[in-house]
Amino acid sequence: MPSREERASSLNAQQVALRDCTACSLSLKRTQVVFGVGDAAAEIMFVGEGPGFHEDKQGEPFVGQAGKLLSELLATIGLRREDVYIANVVKCRPPDNRDPLASEIEACSPNLLEQVRTIRPRVICTLGRFATRLIGETDAPISSVRGRAKSMEVAGVPVMVFPVFHPAAALYTPSNRALLEEDLRKLKLLLDRDRKALTSQEDEYVAEVAAVPDEHVAKAEITVASGTVGDDGRSGGERAEQLPLW
Ligand code: SF4
Repeated sequence: MPSREERASSLNAQQVALRDCTACSLSLKRTQVVFGVGDAAAEIMFVGEGPGFHEDKQGEPFVGQAGKLLSELLATIGLRREDVYIANVVKCRPPDNRDPLASEIEACSPNLLEQVRTIRPRVICTLGRFATRLIGETDAPISSVRGRAKSMEVAGVPVMVFPVFHPAAALYTPSNRALLEEDLRKLKLLLDRDRKALTSQEDEYVAEVAAVPDEHVAKAEITVASGTVGDDGRSGGERAEQLPLW
């Protein structure tokens, strides 16, 4: 496994190589490529849509109002921006903050996948529909998959993908902000579960996937249990937490 320094060096090389990218028309009006920021060996990556006005000017993702909200939300689960890695689906600002086009996402997505391959996060939290569609490989509406975890491979890396609303959708809509806060609490549960699974020698982890497929989403849940696992595969009941899957 590459060290944090090796991963940081690799990300730096990718960033330098992308500086003059003209692979799509977003290069025409950008101020600069907004590559990504954070810990090169982060356990968790946050992936948004694309740079906005402030990001384009400053060269860093999520520095505007939505970024401020993201930082506040991270703080509620004990994380700082420097503890995570933050990137976008497209690295250059779409003019007038329009949605990125499919051709632009196709042109830029290899860059995001290379970041994932380098950082090797355990969890990718997708912010909004574009990141969820690309990383989660789904056409399901964000409203039906938000706050649910999915185990999959992204760029050859085994990860849990966890979609939430984009913070911009919560800036002026208190109900969306409440949902984001609720989902971040679940995200912390997911991180704690994974961390414990990696470090614990004694606890048994029971993943129950009771799939009930509907049109878009397999409703399922994972039970994180500590203590002795009984004949029925359930724990002795010392601790059990529920996390929905999709
Ligand atoms: S959005 Fe991505 S592919 Fe398009 S010019 Fe910028 S860096 Fe290159």
